[in-house]
Amino acid sequence: MGRYTDAVCRLCRREGMKLYLKGEKCYTEKCPVHKRPVPPGMHGQGRRKLSEFGVRLREKQKLRRIYGIYETQFKTYFQRAARAKGVTGVRLLQLLETRLDNVCYRLGYATSRKEARQMVLHGHVAVHGRKVTVPSYQVKPGDVITPTVRGKDHPRVKELAATGLRNLPSWLQFTPDRLEGRVLALPAREEIDVPVQEQLIVEYYSR
Ligand code: SF4
Repeated sequence: MGRYTDAVCRLCRREGMKLYLKGEKCYTEKCPVHKRPVPPGMHGQGRRKLSEFGVRLREKQKLRRIYGIYETQFKTYFQRAARAKGVTGVRLLQLLETRLDNVCYRLGYATSRKEARQMVLHGHVAVHGRKVTVPSYQVKPGDVITPTVRGKDHPRVKELAATGLRNLPSWLQFTPDRLEGRVLALPAREEIDVPVQEQLIVEYYSR
């Protein structure tokens, strides 16, 4: 599947909720979910009620879009979650939540996951002092994440250093003077604030 190049706000309107894909704009009145709260396209307002399959498909698409994952890679995440011990839906969410780009977003290095992915790709982030340029890198408890020397010059990181404003989940720790994040544990389901019913996604792949 190719890169998605259309306006990302259409994805939120398609799912009927804010997916927070654009950073700061998402928190303003300019958000199209407020201005045009109907699915995109000519027939957006006239769409029929979803079938059971449709409900499960939409849930899967919603989660995939929140984390910005392509279809094939998302399926691989599901297969890994299904093989792992524990509840498959929760394991799936944990795998997505512990991607390095998502952790950078949670730490406040970026205002969206897309921006965080760019930061990682451009070599602005290090794990245990070593630069990592793979957004899907899986962090684990005990890992220490910091901006690289170049990363400290990134406008968002400078802003974070100046304001220190973050809404940090409890499975992460942040030391402001070093701009250092530490993974304390794997996130529990209630600490992952994504509005999806993961069981429907498990049912989607089990059909
Ligand atoms: Fe979604 Fe953000 Fe666009 Fe609103 S501004 S529609 S939340 S991406």
